[in-house]
Amino acid sequence: MDNNNDTKQDFILKIKELFKDKKNIAIAILAFLLLISFGSSPNSTTSTNEINELKSQIEELSSKNNELKSQLEESNSKNVELENNLKGLQEEKSKLEQEKQQSEITKQEQVNEAKEVSTETQTQSAQDDTSSTNNAESDSEDISHTYILNKNTKVFHEVGCSSVSKMKDYNKEEYTGSRDSVINRGYKPCQRCSP
Ligand SMILES: [Zn+2]
Repeated sequence: MDNNNDTKQDFILKIKELFKDKKNIAIAILAFLLLISFGSSPNSTTSTNEINELKSQIEELSSKNNELKSQLEESNSKNVELENNLKGLQEEKSKLEQEKQQSEITKQEQVNEAKEVSTETQTQSAQDDTSSTNNAESDSEDISHTYILNKNTKVFHEVGCSSVSKMKDYNKEEYTGSRDSVINRGYKPCQRCSP
């Protein structure tokens, strides 16, 4: 116990001697402050750095956010533009469909007209055919033929008509020529032999 007391007293004495000098007290305080500053300053610098880093990250994120916002706006405007284009295309499509329908109607009308025209042409050609047959008939009428004319009754007959045998000789005249030329002479065809 005496040894312990002695060492305690020695320590206190040494401290008292140390603090007798005011320079030593100042040195101790400075050392203490230095210890605090060395211990805390790296931490504070780290936290400041972290804060700065976080700030820059926030700034970066906010700028990215703005960029994304502008991109979104751009894509929205593009979307609107595309929707307008789509509307325009749909309108054009419906217009084209209407035009197509109209053109089909016109086509149908044209086909109908063409059919009518072809029927008309057919009728025309048929008429042409009949007229050509008429021409053929008139051609055949132009062919010379021998008739017996009755100068008294102004009727003309086929050579073998029964009326010819009954006819008086002075009224009888043999004529060779076209049927028209006989008619032009004022003669009418006999109703019995119908020349
Ligand atoms: Zn006759």
